[in-house]
Amino acid sequence: MHMLDRRNFLKALGAAAGASILSIPRGFAATAKARVVVIGGGFGGGSAARYLRLLDPGIDVTLIERGTLYTSCPLSNEVLSGSRAIESLQAGYGGLARRGVKVVHDEVAAIDPVKKSVSTAGGGEFGYDALIVSPGVDLNFAAIEGLSQEVAETRIPHAWKAGPQTLLLKKQIEALPDGGRVLISVPKAPFRCPPGPYERAAQIAMYCQQHGKKKAKILILDANDSFSKRPLFEEAWKALYGYGPNGMIEWVAGASGGGVERVDAGAMTCFGMLDDFRGDVINIIPPHRAGKIARDAGLATLKGNWCEVKPENMESKAQKDIYVIGDACVGGETATGNGFPKSAHMANSQAKAVAASLVAKFNGLPPPVPVYTNTCYSVVAHDWGFSVVHLFRVADGQWVYIKNGSGISPTSFGTKEKPQPVPRSYRKMEAEYADGWLRNLMADAFS
Ligand SMILES: Cc1cc2nc3c(=O)[nH]c(=O)nc-3n(C[C@H](O)[C@H](O)[C@H](O)COP(=O)(O)OP(=O)(O)OC[C@H]3O[C@@H](n4cnc5c(N)ncnc54)[C@H](O)[C@@H]3O)c2cc1C
Repeated sequence: MHMLDRRNFLKALGAAAGASILSIPRGFAATAKARVVVIGGGFGGGSAARYLRLLDPGIDVTLIERGTLYTSCPLSNEVLSGSRAIESLQAGYGGLARRGVKVVHDEVAAIDPVKKSVSTAGGGEFGYDALIVSPGVDLNFAAIEGLSQEVAETRIPHAWKAGPQTLLLKKQIEALPDGGRVLISVPKAPFRCPPGPYERAAQIAMYCQQHGKKKAKILILDANDSFSKRPLFEEAWKALYGYGPNGMIEWVAGASGGGVERVDAGAMTCFGMLDDFRGDVINIIPPHRAGKIARDAGLATLKGNWCEVKPENMESKAQKDIYVIGDACVGGETATGNGFPKSAHMANSQAKAVAASLVAKFNGLPPPVPVYTNTCYSVVAHDWGFSVVHLFRVADGQWVYIKNGSGISPTSFGTKEKPQPVPRSYRKMEAEYADGWLRNLMADAFS
């Protein structure tokens, strides 16, 4: 929807209905200025607020976000290797305010779906006609014995919400002795950014290789038995850093005892089902669930962890007029293993779907039919990147994975019989695209 302005959007919807826009009653908006409250100013919430104002400046949009400066997780692994300054990942909320979004910096404490209002820790109360909830994920420290928020902030950072912990982990990696060992613990899926831990291993390896730590070891302790873009990662790890028991990067699958159940921060040791692992640096990514506010409001209908929504507009299955987007929700073709990945691109796409749906509703127009998209880059060296694309459409009230439009970077060129290696220039281009992709996405969510 980059090029779509409000007039064209409304025109398009009017055309879809086979009627002139002027002949369609404005319904809701004719009687009152519609009020939308957005909880969470990350990729999901920021994009939703922005697109609501872009498509219909008549809508009253309030965004409530606890922080005043957002730090992008995408490409934050590059901060660990020193390839990128954390400031390049940060955005404030001035851009959204200039678009007429009322930005409130506060903690949302409760949602009252009957009164249709949200209240904040600071004593604010905000009524809504539609509520968009995009709080991201909470990290469940209690799932790993010995881990707590305090331990994560001081000794064993997760760095899975980019910010101070990213810088703490970077410092720890810089202090790693040559021959030292870094443990990365990956929780059971689903978790935010499925390829993220494996990209992280590569970025740390790149740092070690370039800073006199060639004997360092990066051990990935995984609760899962496979991972996103696995052939691409394994190819790159082998070629760049060495992979396996004798390489710099080694992966321990869940079936081989990779899942971490307990940690002793004093002894810097992780305990799994089958083995103990000592590390000089330990990066435990705890299991995830939807952000607390979504769970407290009863929106997390899937095992109390994740929020189920309707494919046509992301409306909560539990509460009318509440829409859940971003990492907190589940969607896609979960039965075939093609669920929505928890990604910034996906959150942005879902935000556009909700914004378009609400603008249509408030203007008495027919509901648009959304297409959901994801692109996710992984950068494993300055000059080596790859990506995956997912597309989904909605048919008969269900998400349908569009196989022909989706895809992943190739592991080889040529034919099946005569495979050719993918040229390094191709990988380099993808690493460069990743940077452009992020700059676009940040602008699309916060400018
Ligand atoms: C290392 C790493 C690499 C990644 N790489 C990629 C990538 O390459 N591509 C990609 O597409 N995605 C990537 N991701 C995933 C991406 O960061 C998330 O999917 C995305 O941030 C989800 O957006 P969101 O809006 O759901 O949540 P968030 O971006 O986390 O935003 C949620 C916001 O809500 C606020 N909030 C929560 N609760 C409250 C409350 N009660 N009151 C007020 N404010 C509240 C939080 O402060 C936060 O700002 C990566 C993630 C990691 C960790």
